[in-house]
Amino acid sequence: MADLVSEDTRDKTYDDIPGLQPWMLQQLKYLKILRPTPIQYHCIPPAIEGRDIIGAAKTGSGKTLAFVIPILQKLSVDPYGIYALVLTPTRELAFQIADQFKGLGGPVSLKISVIVGGIDRLTQCKELSKSPHVVVATPGRLADILDSAPEFTLKRIKFLVLDEADRLMDGRFDDQIQTIWSSLPERRQTLLFSATITDRLQKMKDLASSEVFLWQTSAKNDQATVQQLDERYCLVSPVSKDATMVALLLEFSEKNPKGLIIVFTDTCKSTQILSMMLNNLGVQSVCIHSMLTQKERLAALARFKSSQVKILIATDLASRGLDIPLVQLIVNHKIPNSPSVYIHRVGRTARAGRSGQAVTFVTPHELKLLLAVEGKTKRKMSEVKVDEAMAQRIMKQVNVTKREQEIKLDETDFDERRNINKRKRLIMEGR
Ligand code: ADP
Ligand code: MG
Repeated sequence: MADLVSEDTRDKTYDDIPGLQPWMLQQLKYLKILRPTPIQYHCIPPAIEGRDIIGAAKTGSGKTLAFVIPILQKLSVDPYGIYALVLTPTRELAFQIADQFKGLGGPVSLKISVIVGGIDRLTQCKELSKSPHVVVATPGRLADILDSAPEFTLKRIKFLVLDEADRLMDGRFDDQIQTIWSSLPERRQTLLFSATITDRLQKMKDLASSEVFLWQTSAKNDQATVQQLDERYCLVSPVSKDATMVALLLEFSEKNPKGLIIVFTDTCKSTQILSMMLNNLGVQSVCIHSMLTQKERLAALARFKSSQVKILIATDLASRGLDIPLVQLIVNHKIPNSPSVYIHRVGRTARAGRSGQAVTFVTPHELKLLLAVEGKTKRKMSEVKVDEAMAQRIMKQVNVTKREQEIKLDETDFDERRNINKRKRLIMEGR
């Protein structure tokens, strides 16, 4: 765990952070969270003082508690609902953040609601009418409820948190954010967190009200990915890619029987097909993407988190924020177009001082993208060694199986589901 804490906070404990109350210190000790990470050490005091915060620190560096601790601490002094609103880009992340609040908030009888799409809206409205202390929400569902339930108000909140702030501000949530913004009080504290925040910093600074406290990981360590992460690439031809990946997965699983693996690819359909292909090859996997129902998404994640299935195939739905300590390997089946997406994906491993590995497949056509990633992370990757003979041996079987699964999927209502989802979205947007 030592690497989690950089030089300047290594000898610190939570007792060294001014303003933390005894119940909080006791609760942290009880949870065996003993030493603040740098972002926690530096951001908790100004947050308790009442300042707005922009906190940028690498993946897995404890950003969640950097806002959970000050909110719970202030809430315990003046408890009412709704006291804090936390926005985050994905539903799964909303549940995970709520869990962190619950873990720490027991002694103050914390009431918390998760407001996300894909789950019964009526139940959520009922929960909100009971004024929970903290609401963790994805923008879509919250904006939807604000639009249609005028009796529900956020006018008294003290804290607004944007977790994965740059993703929330990247344009895709603009309409919903606008709706939410217009229902918030002028006087409030705004806390913004992300691992990749610099590009949008200015816009976010403008949004925050009082003088902003900005905290970033020190400049002398300007690599964007964490030290304990072993980053590799694998140059393949398109026709041998899947077989090479299967060989890699088998080899890794054999060497690391407890390790969990996340494979990222680009579309819902490829995610679904890769997962079906692996299952048909006898390699158990689950998948998560936006065309599954919320129930299916949560079920897949639960099976993965509990190690019942060791491989998760995912779209970028899972690239942000998810904290699953046993994940030891990230595979980029498709290299992302944007280096910051890469940083978030590989940040699902090597968290909280642990080690981890990332392997990115590239075809000759995609070498430019690899260079772009290396330019951003300021790290050169070396090539990974895969059992080529095995890849060659299984190539035909892998490719045939994949083709069969593609045909199978075409025969189902998969594309139909997509069209329905698309129509729903257009209707929601009033188009
Ligand atoms: P980030 O949001 O920066 O990616 P998280 O807040 O998800 O990181 O934290 C990553 C992991 O580290 C979580 O499992 C969390 O419980 C753990 N963690 C957070 N703070 C500490 C700490 N001070 N000491 C040990 N583990 C911690
Ligand atoms: Mg986080």
